Amino acid sequence: MQPEISVVIPVYCEAAGIRVTLREVEKYLSQCASTWEIVVVDDGSKDSTWDEITTLSAGMPGLRGLRLSRNFGKEAAVSAGLAAARGRAVVLMDGDMQHPPSLLPTLVQTWRTGEADIVEAVKSSRGNESAMSAARAKLFYLILRAFSGHDLNGASDYKLLDQRVVEAYRTMKERNVFFRGMVSWMGFRTTQIPFQVEPRIAGDSGWSVFGLVRLAAVAVTSFSTFPLHLITIFGLVFFAFSVLLGVHTVYMKLSGAAITGFTTVILLLLIIGSSLMIGLGIIGEYLARIYEEVKQRPRYIVSQELPGPRR
Ligand code: UDP
Ligand code: MG
Repeated sequence: MQPEISVVIPVYCEAAGIRVTLREVEKYLSQCASTWEIVVVDDGSKDSTWDEITTLSAGMPGLRGLRLSRNFGKEAAVSAGLAAARGRAVVLMDGDMQHPPSLLPTLVQTWRTGEADIVEAVKSSRGNESAMSAARAKLFYLILRAFSGHDLNGASDYKLLDQRVVEAYRTMKERNVFFRGMVSWMGFRTTQIPFQVEPRIAGDSGWSVFGLVRLAAVAVTSFSTFPLHLITIFGLVFFAFSVLLGVHTVYMKLSGAAITGFTTVILLLLIIGSSLMIGLGIIGEYLARIYEEVKQRPRYIVSQELPGPRR
């Protein structure tokens, strides 16, 4: 039977907090919906997260578990959850209590009015995050907006999506996914609800600096081809410059006053050399994306499911 609400929660090494999180989610869900399911996606945790889910699922009939065969990253875990969710509306939230479950009834009620296909919880404050990670997030959004034109500042992955939106998301077959960007790209009628980011219940944020840089690269290259055009623009500017310099050089040669401008030669070498390499690097980024896409590998592999297949 199709439940009214599905809640999708990607988790990675959340053994310490998952029990409390799921209990809270269950509490608020049963307040606002008669039929619901919770789909927890264990993104290849190295701790006892999966055992916790197994234990909990015995006493929680609405709980479903998916275990990925290794750590595929949050974006892939989200895809796995969205592929498995059956509800008429699907809520996506983090498993570390930073997305307060108490907001669930508000999200659901806003969706029930029928005025929105997407109900977004928007960060009104980022919680007591360290200045370092706040700065990191700011830079991330700045780069993203500059290149892709999608303003995602304040956007979170805490969202309710109507079934129609989830179906549209499923039609996007690319391997490199960036959930927030794709939701923004799809359009649909969106309503925003502000919320305060709570401190993490346990453990550490799973994002490394390298992970964020990678996500930024994926986000930029999958939403914009501007960096490629930038190479062309640089090329044109240098060309105009080289015509001027060429005329000057030929004039000097003909008038017999050559052998000057050794500095110019060195500078030109340096500038042109480095811009060529940057240009190649940018092309390489896109080439890597294309390579990853043409392989057509799945975004994730599910190794275990709860409740298991009924025989
Ligand atoms: N997460 C995941 N796979 C990963 C990293 C994180 O499924 O490789 C989950 C994590 O368990 C949490 C959510 O994604 O439920 C958000 O992660 P985190 O709290 O580390 O990120 P932040 O809150 O800093 O954005
Ligand atoms: Mg978090």
